[in-house]
Amino acid sequence: AAKEAGKNCYLHFRPQMLAELLARTQLTAGLRRAVELGQIMVHYQPVVSTELLEVVQFEALARWQFEGKLIPPDEFIRIAERSGLIRDIGAEVLRRSCAELQPWLAEDPARTLAVNVSGVQLLHRDFAERVLDIAACGDVDPHQLVLEVTESVFFDPRSHVIAQLEGLRAAGVRVALDDFGTGYSSLGRLQELPVDIVKIDKSFVSLLHTGAEKLPILTSMIHMARSLGLKVTAEGIETPEQAHYLIAHGCDALQGFLFSRPEPDDRRELGIRHTAAAVAALAGASRPG
Ligand code: C2E
Ligand code: MG
Ligand code: MG
Ligand code: MG
Repeated sequence: AAKEAGKNCYLHFRPQMLAELLARTQLTAGLRRAVELGQIMVHYQPVVSTELLEVVQFEALARWQFEGKLIPPDEFIRIAERSGLIRDIGAEVLRRSCAELQPWLAEDPARTLAVNVSGVQLLHRDFAERVLDIAACGDVDPHQLVLEVTESVFFDPRSHVIAQLEGLRAAGVRVALDDFGTGYSSLGRLQELPVDIVKIDKSFVSLLHTGAEKLPILTSMIHMARSLGLKVTAEGIETPEQAHYLIAHGCDALQGFLFSRPEPDDRRELGIRHTAAAVAALAGASRPG
């Protein structure tokens, strides 16, 4: 009976595995072509300072332009990581975003560009050097660059991963811990990590509507990070209530659809205008009377 079950299982499972393998192979080949043809695009989402109430940063978010459609990163970053293509994609996103944002950055030294970095990129020993080279070629001051990494990169036992980030920080680049709260590390561990900014994951921001009983976790994350001298950005803000709460609890910066969706470079001004309108509405709502 066991043999029969095994056989059934084998017959049932194999075509599916093959289909997945084929799909992955095709996707990888397609992605490789896209990189070569310059079809990896970047959209920019504004980040608002709660102190200045204006856009102080744009986060660069990769998009794959494929047959007239834009494929979101959740559908290709993992494949890019597995195939090693993430190295070229990461370099392209940085190069392109430096080029597209340079004029905006040059207007004010307090403005920054945030770029997402995968742990796989950090495995290359020349990563830090390449980042600084691309910034220099694009005439972007390293002090205006923020690299967003997730907690998992800090679990890599290979010490050169941390050394890369420390080298970059020594050159003025800031490191943000992305999706904070979704990983394994405790709040206590935050102190040891070479980071300057924490980005509270949007799943915590959505608690403001759906899980009020867990709100103390959110507020203690903010307070802990701030007491360690870190800056706190909250992502995924969709409602004025969320924005008010996060401002009241000490977040330094806010990002989310409430202000603007990610937009291509030629519509970045639109993002800034949307943000200004959302900020004005927020301020209006909190004015007494
Ligand atoms: P992330 O870095 O945490 O970026 C935030 C994601 O949340 C973006 O999705 C953004 O469009 C989305 N978002 C922003 N505001 C809101 C909101 O108010 N509500 C909701 N529901 N979502 C919001 P996106 O662009 O699809 O990117 C997904 C993830 O893909 C990113 O998450 C990042 O981890 C990864 N990624 C994007 N670009 C790159 C890249 O160039 N390199 C690497 N390694 N990863 C990237
Ligand atoms: Mg990010
Ligand atoms: Mg994030
Ligand atoms: Mg995220």
